[in-house]
Amino acid sequence: MDKKIYKNLREVLLDQGKIDAAKAEEINLRQVKTGESEEEIVRAMRIIDEESLVKAKAELLRVEYINLDSIGFSPEALALVPESVAQKYKVVPYSMDPRNKILSVTMANPLDIETIEFLEKKAGMKVRAAISTEKQINEFISEKYVREKGITSEVSKALDERKKDEGKTLADTAKKVSAEAPVAKIVTTILEFAVKSRASDIHMEPQEDNVRIRYRIDGILQEKYMLPRNVHEAVVSRIKILSSLKIDEKRVPQDGRFFFSSDGNDVDLRVSTLPTTYGEKVVMRLLKKSQKVPSLPDLGLRGLALKNLMEAIERPHGIIIVCGPTGSGKTTTLYSVLDKVATSKVNVVTIEDPVEYQMKGVNQVQVNTQAGLTFASALRSFLRQDPNVIMVGEVRDTETAELAINASLTGHLVFSTLHTNDAAGVPPRMLDMGVEPFLLVSSLTCVVGQRVLRKVCKECIGETEMTPDIESEMKATLGPIYNMITEKWAKDGKTVKMPKVVGCEKCNNTGYFGRIAIYEVMPMTEKIAKLVVEKAAASEIQKQAMSDGMLTMKQDGYVKVLEGVTTLEEVLRVAQY
Ligand SMILES: [Zn+2]
Repeated sequence: MDKKIYKNLREVLLDQGKIDAAKAEEINLRQVKTGESEEEIVRAMRIIDEESLVKAKAELLRVEYINLDSIGFSPEALALVPESVAQKYKVVPYSMDPRNKILSVTMANPLDIETIEFLEKKAGMKVRAAISTEKQINEFISEKYVREKGITSEVSKALDERKKDEGKTLADTAKKVSAEAPVAKIVTTILEFAVKSRASDIHMEPQEDNVRIRYRIDGILQEKYMLPRNVHEAVVSRIKILSSLKIDEKRVPQDGRFFFSSDGNDVDLRVSTLPTTYGEKVVMRLLKKSQKVPSLPDLGLRGLALKNLMEAIERPHGIIIVCGPTGSGKTTTLYSVLDKVATSKVNVVTIEDPVEYQMKGVNQVQVNTQAGLTFASALRSFLRQDPNVIMVGEVRDTETAELAINASLTGHLVFSTLHTNDAAGVPPRMLDMGVEPFLLVSSLTCVVGQRVLRKVCKECIGETEMTPDIESEMKATLGPIYNMITEKWAKDGKTVKMPKVVGCEKCNNTGYFGRIAIYEVMPMTEKIAKLVVEKAAASEIQKQAMSDGMLTMKQDGYVKVLEGVTTLEEVLRVAQY
């Protein structure tokens, strides 16, 4: 579908709902009277922020808007335009299509034909111009050109090497090139950045024309580099050599690991390769060795929720279940709990898939289905090993559920996880698995529901006022708690403020730094036990838990927004259930 053609900026802003008809008329009149440009007027009137203005300009000029903070950049494209040229013409080359010979650049003024023609001559390619804010362009030039000089020149060198080797068989060159300095340095740069930016995973994805390198930071994938497709094979070979994988085997997935050290951080890398249409996709998971187990309050557990969980942990027996979808931080919570109970007086055993973190004083066992070591079979052997505390990675089937209950009833403290959306959903799910209701209520002592979200960066945190819609949603969800927390604003007759993301160098311009969980903790009270035995629905169980004083995850999230720990967007992103 063709995009709408606009005649002027105020028309775009009107269409986008950024201004009303009266404001549009005001802009028009002022333009006639003073002869200023619409852009100057909009800026002077401070109607919208700079990014919205540039986005509107993109619509008007029918060019792409590029947010330089959230795209991965291409060292190959960067190498084509030297820093001095970028500086002089305020232009950032951000991607390149070698097959169609197109260089994509972004500029504050994409109508600057002279610059575009100059670049086309210099690069020997067609130049496609997009628009970004001047601030982003200046920041990119002053920061990235300097910081990424290393990888940019290594990529150019690696490409030159490849050109020399053209005509030789691919396997030969891959083996040879992968050991050479430029490729080794590219891999090191990718790993070093991962460690520096606290990434938990690195994804290397070959696409039609290039290779996308993304990092998972604070749980979110972020694009960082676009490497030329030609170096992919050599880069993958280098990683395969490091992790003792077969270089020539490209048709089947492989798993390996290696060790990397940077800046005093020792990192264990789990590597897995997967053949895709455009080549092998590589995912590396980073496990830091020096990482300490965070305490429960550090994870975000407080108040009555913390007290109820601690009471369950301090009992000699019972089952404690942590629930939530994959990536909701369940394992971290369990490690934190185990760290509390693992003293020299108790025997702690775990069966995990995989063992994500090595704990002192804990006997950890890795699931190995091929060797017949499953959650259920391990649990059975554990009971002959005189344990006090058992952690089972996940309750996946009836057999594991029944064994866990048996262990609890014979005097053991059992921890596990379950894939349900919320705490109240756990008892009905276990009944669905065929567990006897009265056995369940006499063993299950506490259920924890959780999600993990990003903390707003303390260095650059901003503030925003709450709209009436949000305010009424918050009031409805939090009830009387809302007034308790917002008292400090109400006392001074001020409107309630919420954190807003800004972005700085420390947080990679994301506005977020670190993570925290939102929790709901449901102890098995007599009233809830009665509902479970009656096979009540999860919604009824939740209602009872709330009247027993449980804060739901969403409520806990809203509290953390009002306390300035995270943003409303983050809570809504993870708490949709
Ligand atoms: Zn920041």
